[in-house]
Amino acid sequence: MSKKIFLCAISNISSGHCLEDCGFCTQSVRHGAAIDRFYHKPIEQIAEEAKAARKRSAVGFCLVTAGKGLDEKTLKFVCEAAEAVKKEVPELNIIACNGTATLDQLRVLKSFGVGSYNHNLETSESFYPKICTTHGWRERYETCENVKKAELNLCTGGIFGLGESMEDRVDLLESIASLEPASVPINFYHPNSSLPIKQQTLDVEEALDMIRVAREMLPTQRIMIAGGREITFGERDREIFEAGANAIVIGDYLTTTGNDPMRDHRMIEEAGYEVAADCHDN
Ligand code: SF4
Repeated sequence: MSKKIFLCAISNISSGHCLEDCGFCTQSVRHGAAIDRFYHKPIEQIAEEAKAARKRSAVGFCLVTAGKGLDEKTLKFVCEAAEAVKKEVPELNIIACNGTATLDQLRVLKSFGVGSYNHNLETSESFYPKICTTHGWRERYETCENVKKAELNLCTGGIFGLGESMEDRVDLLESIASLEPASVPINFYHPNSSLPIKQQTLDVEEALDMIRVAREMLPTQRIMIAGGREITFGERDREIFEAGANAIVIGDYLTTTGNDPMRDHRMIEEAGYEVAADCHDN
């Protein structure tokens, strides 16, 4: 039986007004990137996007809000969105990705149908102050611990190519492993002239090596290649599966355009893999 590849779609439901200063993120107002900025995407539009994602065989649907973390208003909005998606497409696993979250807030999300929470550690604890000065890495780790306590599935990963060393990358993967997440999104830095981090796109061989290292250190986790796949791997993206990935994001990302999902389906098939039918497909 061929290896199953899990597909996940992202919906940017509140975009581009974050006051934090993460150097890799175009959603920070501090960097002035030319992106769409809006507070609340209409609930009907979110539900339509969820339906379209399921038609393209996505098993996960991620509700992302820009900002440091959940406040009362954002929590209410994400709950409304989750409820609408659950009603329209009950078979989708809903992932919320809304920054710092308390145990109580996560329990509320769960009661509205959210199955997983995504909060990336991003990089090693020691490199983190070089990419963000407005909040700390420890706080990120604590939110991940809260996710586990709330008995939600934890998705936590990071981003490679910010100028970090190999030691930082291994430290990050060790920290991720210590949290025993269900899924590990791996992003590759997508340069943008407005951003303060002036690194080039990671070399494709180096990026594939990082997936191999991640797979070795996280033997049982779902490893999902997320942002930066297109720009880093181009037409060589089928090699990510052999390197150890078993999930990808399909469609557009938060502020960048992804491949046509039909192209990705063809790529998976031609590489000899099968698209997973549901979130628990083995
Ligand atoms: S906290 Fe999140 S949305 Fe805000 S700048 Fe950092 S990565 Fe971007």
